[in-house]
Amino acid sequence: MDEAIRICLDTGELPEKWYNILPDLREEFPPYLNPKTGEPVKPEDLEAVFIKECVRQEASMERFIDIPNELREYYIMMGRPSPLQRAIKLERYLRTPAKIYYKREDLSPTGSHKLNTAIAQAYYAVKEGVERLTTETGAGQWGSALACSTALVGLKALIFMVRISYMQKPYRKHVMKLYGAEVHPSPSEITSFGRKLLAEDPNNTGSLGIAISEALEAALHDDKTKYSLGSVLNHVLLHQTIVGQEVDLQLKKIDEEPDVLIGCVGGGSNFAGFSYPTIGKYLRGKLEEKPEIIAVEPKACPSMTEGEYRYDFGDAAQTTPLIKMYTLGYGFIPPPIHAGGLRYHGCAPTLSLLVKEGIVKPMAVDQEEAFRGAQLFARTEGVIPAPETSHAVAVAIREALKAKEMGEEKVVVFNYSGHGLLDLEGYKQVLGL
Ligand SMILES: *Cc1c(COP(=O)(O)O)cnc(C)c1O
Repeated sequence: MDEAIRICLDTGELPEKWYNILPDLREEFPPYLNPKTGEPVKPEDLEAVFIKECVRQEASMERFIDIPNELREYYIMMGRPSPLQRAIKLERYLRTPAKIYYKREDLSPTGSHKLNTAIAQAYYAVKEGVERLTTETGAGQWGSALACSTALVGLKALIFMVRISYMQKPYRKHVMKLYGAEVHPSPSEITSFGRKLLAEDPNNTGSLGIAISEALEAALHDDKTKYSLGSVLNHVLLHQTIVGQEVDLQLKKIDEEPDVLIGCVGGGSNFAGFSYPTIGKYLRGKLEEKPEIIAVEPKACPSMTEGEYRYDFGDAAQTTPLIKMYTLGYGFIPPPIHAGGLRYHGCAPTLSLLVKEGIVKPMAVDQEEAFRGAQLFARTEGVIPAPETSHAVAVAIREALKAKEMGEEKVVVFNYSGHGLLDLEGYKQVLGL
């Protein structure tokens, strides 16, 4: 057995800094705009709701930003550095000459990459004297990560969960409550916006946009409460770059160069965290050849492949600043696909720039192909991907089959953003289990 099947790093090899792509972008980052004045938003405006250190990082032009030691300890506690694994049985099943590697972000306590930023935000919040963090969650991946992180650092959490998910997907709600978070179905009775909507329609099933508005309202009305976001913004993507830097070290250990990098995209945080360290090297002229870098979205919510690149609101209730990004329009209501984490109308502004410049190639996959790919992955590799992750799995399989057709020994690496053990109902419905 000479293949490197599971490439691990020692805890001492955990990266000491995050990588910030802003100073390496070819075009200037389009500022967030105040929708009323059309002027760029000032940091002070953002500090009304966001953690101060996150606001500072949001616009930082420092290329590498220190990860505080205490936070590195939390990362280690949560299973970092995570393994890079070779999908050797899948390769054999496909009879492909390609090598397929996947980065195991599913092994964290809540089962996805989202803890990488949740714990960072919770850590800074405590330092700044914040007492409570509030946020929205759809299917509950983000809410679980924030609930876990706030519990570990000793903060309170107030979470607005889209009402339909609250009723239909109870397990992550239980997870959040187990960690001690206060969880409300959104629209809720505890904000004026929620009460107004419920007065109009007591059966309102909610949306992510409504839940964001309620969380923002809660943060605006209490100095000790700050709002925490799980994707899209620069500081969130920054925290995720721990992932790609580990992958870099792991590939070096086995003397491999990636030919293709693949990640799924909802708001863009796991994709960015995984790929930006490599993209940064390319932008700084430090790579001889740029790997193909593929961002995968669902066909049912195709912001990068069919959206427009323009300023738009980040939420349906039009409360956020305007963000320049690929968008389907803030009013877009995606059909109820099972990859809840990929049902966002826009995508991260830095990722949007990289797509526009042709550095990142967007691709859309339908739900059926994603779940079939996930099923094959489970049967060959033994792990059950999150429905979101399945989109990256499906494209990794496509690439491996393409390599077989061309007789190429490509190195395909993808981000395995999370496990699907709490999403089995979706599998049942699509695959007819
Ligand atoms: C939330 C989530 C995503 C999508 O969010 P990004 O910010 O685009 O990464 C992808 N995979 C999993 C497992 C998730 O929980």
